[in-house]
Amino acid sequence: MSEIRFNFVTGDWVIIAPERSKRPEDFTSAKKKEAVPGYVPTCPFCPGNEDQTPEETFRISNNGQWTVRSTLNKFSALTPGYDIVRHVMGFKKFMTGFGIHEVIIETQQHNMPTAFLPASHVGEIIYSYRNRFLDFYKNDEIKHVIVFKNHGLRAGTSLQHPHSQIVGTPVIPGQVKGRIEEALRYYDDFGECLYCWYMKEEQREMTRVVSENKSFVVFIPYAALSPFHIWIFPKRHNGCFGYITDAEISDLADILKDTLLRLYHGLSDPDLNYVIRSLSPQENAVRYFHWYLSIVARVTRTAGFEMGTGMYINPSLPDNSARFLRDVQF
Ligand SMILES: [Zn+2]
Ligand SMILES: [Zn+2]
Repeated sequence: MSEIRFNFVTGDWVIIAPERSKRPEDFTSAKKKEAVPGYVPTCPFCPGNEDQTPEETFRISNNGQWTVRSTLNKFSALTPGYDIVRHVMGFKKFMTGFGIHEVIIETQQHNMPTAFLPASHVGEIIYSYRNRFLDFYKNDEIKHVIVFKNHGLRAGTSLQHPHSQIVGTPVIPGQVKGRIEEALRYYDDFGECLYCWYMKEEQREMTRVVSENKSFVVFIPYAALSPFHIWIFPKRHNGCFGYITDAEISDLADILKDTLLRLYHGLSDPDLNYVIRSLSPQENAVRYFHWYLSIVARVTRTAGFEMGTGMYINPSLPDNSARFLRDVQF
């Protein structure tokens, strides 16, 4: 029999229906593996083609070579340099398409998955996230910043060269408002941070915890929205990712690399997205919100039911998915 579980963090009801699928390994990626070269002369992110990307905004170098660099996005959805004009005219409520959209090129090597970079290099990528994130918020018109990575076609990217993106919007996106409302409701009802509580409960049960280090816990939540919906929670309560310390960056790099390696080996390099959910630096001290990183391996598809209800069907028991990831050998 299936079970309907409530996800306190997202505010979603999730149908856990493991009998619709078989075992966690049945979600292994079936995509054809083609050998990808380490350097592609026509790739704008490959070394030597730096002049083909828009303006560079940040770089980390080692021995005169860049290791991570960020640039404005050539095909950005939102553009800076405009005054924001807000209008409400009858049913038409709109504003200028203002915003900032950058790409973070994670490595010089065209075919190097993030999981296989040295942990210190993953740390440089996270350091770049923090730099760009804090920089975006220096613009008063930016109200929300999201850092994300798309890996693979099903995750929304056709560009193979490893990269992440960061977008600053002049509005608070609906999904973010929803998360804030859930967190505030819980805080008001029980007087503590929803995320701190949720993490403590997962750590107490341990069955869905994949790994843990000094600063972070990785787990598949009790009411995961999909089979490999993974959360990385910082143990230290902070509303804003921008306040991550250098020591925590190093711990996050270790545990993010480890999680990506488990996914790579366990599910044969699945397409995936990850996002950092965070409030602004000005809101860091709020007691009800707690920044975190969410990874979703694109192993299932959503359809009319999800579209019509906003409810997800997870064809895998989160405990089994977590055990599967814990047991991956690499
Ligand atoms: Zn490339
Ligand atoms: Zn907290």
